[in-house]
Amino acid sequence: MTSFTTRATDDAADCCAAAGKVPDDQEPTAQQYFAQMIQNCLQNAQAAKDAGRPIVGILCEFTPRELIMAAGAVPVCLCGGSAKTIAAAEQYLPANLCPLIKSTFGYHLQGNNPFLEMADLIVAETTCDGKKKMYELMAESRPMYVLELPQKADDPDALEHWVRELQKFRSFLEQRFQTEITQEALRNAIATMNRERALRRELAALMKADSPPLTGRQLLDFKSSISGLCEDFRQYQRALAEYRDQQAGDSRVRVLLTGVPTVHGAERVVQLLEDAGGLVVAAENCTGLKPIMEDVDLNAADPLQALAEKYFHLPCSVMTRNDRRLEFLRELAVQYRAQCIVDLIWQACLTYDVESHRIKRFAEQELDLPYLRIETDYSPSDSARIMVRIEALFETIRR
Ligand code: SF4
Ligand code: SF4
Repeated sequence: MTSFTTRATDDAADCCAAAGKVPDDQEPTAQQYFAQMIQNCLQNAQAAKDAGRPIVGILCEFTPRELIMAAGAVPVCLCGGSAKTIAAAEQYLPANLCPLIKSTFGYHLQGNNPFLEMADLIVAETTCDGKKKMYELMAESRPMYVLELPQKADDPDALEHWVRELQKFRSFLEQRFQTEITQEALRNAIATMNRERALRRELAALMKADSPPLTGRQLLDFKSSISGLCEDFRQYQRALAEYRDQQAGDSRVRVLLTGVPTVHGAERVVQLLEDAGGLVVAAENCTGLKPIMEDVDLNAADPLQALAEKYFHLPCSVMTRNDRRLEFLRELAVQYRAQCIVDLIWQACLTYDVESHRIKRFAEQELDLPYLRIETDYSPSDSARIMVRIEALFETIRR
């Protein structure tokens, strides 16, 4: 049986060492480093693969990266953000389906996502119906494990079921990769992910300033498809040192963005909001603060239970009821002094779309903030129309 546990421990130690490294004056800025995110991740994935570490593709923030890391494998996000792969996907999937699902499936068909092609395993989850059924097609030719996510957010039985699902997943990974996921390896992986979440939270908190030093679009780039990279941690620290005392000096409209994730390549609406004179001070979605707001309790007697609890709290619209999303929005609206809420919905994303009614009512009646719902897909054909609606919203706020 191969043991990857030493590697997980080494990773945590390396991260601490790398974080203390003094940056060279000639070195590209942290922003330039993250602009090369895909290339950086590819290099890392290839090096890991060459060293015999499995690559595991993930497609949702409910999938606990810590378990995969503790098995000595490398979790890589495979969510598609390109419009270019959608036509291929539509030969198999309904046109009226979420672009994120179609784009991901298009990459699968075309074989042009190098991370997917490298993957030894894909971990899917039972979240929305579109993804669930797409996974069945993908599993016809790719090794896949499906995590069953219970969806009654506040039901103790549902949490218990989720704990059992993670126990099963842990055993599966151990068998599949012929390793043992020790408690020590799991705690090390939790420590690494907690550290990453803390660094990203600190960077995001810069947007609480009156005149934040970054735009929301820039902040969106400060993350990688692979988590737990030591070099990323060092670059987060460099970015914090660079931006901590900077102020941009402006009067942009402060936007709290909620709704669907704006994955790599699908950042168009964030760009439109900021081109129109807004500033996305906080993104409540899965590419923003949602998955990084809560840490896993490192001192818990049972780390797997602690892991299950953290992930089960994720306020995604597939949960019922999803009251935590409202509580989280309330906190963010206050902390980031939002002037409006923009709810982004990918076309045919039923759970976020139906929930948008509640979000609108909550924004307008409870938070007293103007609300704008934007439903779109990955095609830029409606950009002008969206821009007009955003400008009208900002005009109202300025008045
Ligand atoms: S929005 Fe929900 S389904 Fe989508 S990645 Fe986030 S947690 Fe997963
Ligand atoms: S955006 Fe909505 S429809 Fe698309 S994958 Fe996420 S939950 Fe499913």
